[in-house]
Amino acid sequence: MSSPSEHAPNDLAPAWLGVPSDLNRPDPAIWPQTATRDETGQLMVGGCGVTELVGDHGSPAYVIDEADFRQRAARFARAFTGWSVNYAGKALLNRTVARWVDQEGLGLDVCSENELAIALAAGFPVERIEFHGNNKSMAELVSAVESGVGRIVVDCFEEIERVDQVARTHDRVVAVQVRVTTGVEAHTHRYIATAGEDQKFGFSIGSGQALAALRDCQSRRHLRLVGVHSHIGSQIFDTEGFVVAARRVFDLVDQFHRASGVWLTEVNLGGGFGIAYTPADTPLAPEELHSRLDRIVRDAREELSLPDTHMAIEPGRAICGPAGVALYTVGVVKPVTLSSGQQRVYVAVDGGMSDNIRPALYQADYTALLANRVSDAPPMLVRVVGKHCESGDVLVRDGYLPSDLAPGDLLAVAGAGAYTRVMASNYNAIARAPLIGVDQGRSRVMIRRETLADILALDAG
Ligand SMILES: *Cc1c(COP(=O)(O)O)cnc(C)c1O
Repeated sequence: MSSPSEHAPNDLAPAWLGVPSDLNRPDPAIWPQTATRDETGQLMVGGCGVTELVGDHGSPAYVIDEADFRQRAARFARAFTGWSVNYAGKALLNRTVARWVDQEGLGLDVCSENELAIALAAGFPVERIEFHGNNKSMAELVSAVESGVGRIVVDCFEEIERVDQVARTHDRVVAVQVRVTTGVEAHTHRYIATAGEDQKFGFSIGSGQALAALRDCQSRRHLRLVGVHSHIGSQIFDTEGFVVAARRVFDLVDQFHRASGVWLTEVNLGGGFGIAYTPADTPLAPEELHSRLDRIVRDAREELSLPDTHMAIEPGRAICGPAGVALYTVGVVKPVTLSSGQQRVYVAVDGGMSDNIRPALYQADYTALLANRVSDAPPMLVRVVGKHCESGDVLVRDGYLPSDLAPGDLLAVAGAGAYTRVMASNYNAIARAPLIGVDQGRSRVMIRRETLADILALDAG
């Protein structure tokens, strides 16, 4: 095994990326809790070896560690006892996942009629479903009302009118929360105090629209206004953004009480809790997150002398992200010499931006491991790319892999459970990869691989 000091970092490597002291070890901060190596050196997830997984299910494939997913869900529910914890289904949703979320006692957020239908098909308790979205169609509002979802989060004045109309037609009273923007937009490690207002979601507090929306909801007999909803961003590592956002939300609750005499009973602080995609990411544990958010809420309520409100959060990525691993087969290892004389090794695999758009979309970073074997070869800086016709088709922009990496080797990418399969495309007529659940040495197909027949079936000829 080589020691890190023997290998100077490649000068093309970004500053945050250290040369790993062990290229074979799955770092438990990044990989699923069950990730380990077996005696042959292959990576195991959920007790299943990656070589057999690819043999049985093909490559590329998404693998979800059921125990890891369930533990993260249960840990959030336990840490946030007394709060509602709603899993944000947009991060990863299918019937199996909906059942896990139900069995671990969480609520569920959906953003479309089809996400709602998937949850209902899994038997998810409808009263624990919250319906989001900035442009819900009438058909979506009708299915939300008819199925009896627990909450509809209203996003604009037209929608308040539409929900009221659908509720009236169905002779129902629908519980609504008002989506507000606090002027806080959290991005990795910092937040911009005004930028959050210039975007499509919700009613801004600063402009007075949020207060007007609350009054509008309150005035309608078929709407039961229960609270306010704020979501400040994604992949957030600190709680400073939540301090400002929660304070502005509670100021609004107070203002609405003074204007109407009514106390809102629910405040939802949204999701966005960050996960470790690389060693540079430092997420907060759910317990720490709870104690910080709880303090923020207590302080704001105390200062404003507000009564108790029922609090809620909506983690998506923090539950499903680390539970997922994407498996690929290496096709090409291509050293590219730049005019500066520097060299970068491009490792091309059998997937790419069609199965994980996040690096291309948000410059998201990921970590990869050589998965089918261990290696003592010295580290080399690589860029893992896909097979699509775009130079931006990158999966791991910068990482170190063993320098004896060769075509036919398997690569595993960590943190691949969130916003991957749900954002997958058929670019270059690639059939979308399957989602394989693993647990205690057994694997099962959660979503099967698409086939050429599926793609041709949509093509009317
Ligand atoms: C996306 C989203 C979430 C979940 O975000 P994560 O980063 O996956 O935790 C929660 N609530 C709302 C309203 C969202 O749009």
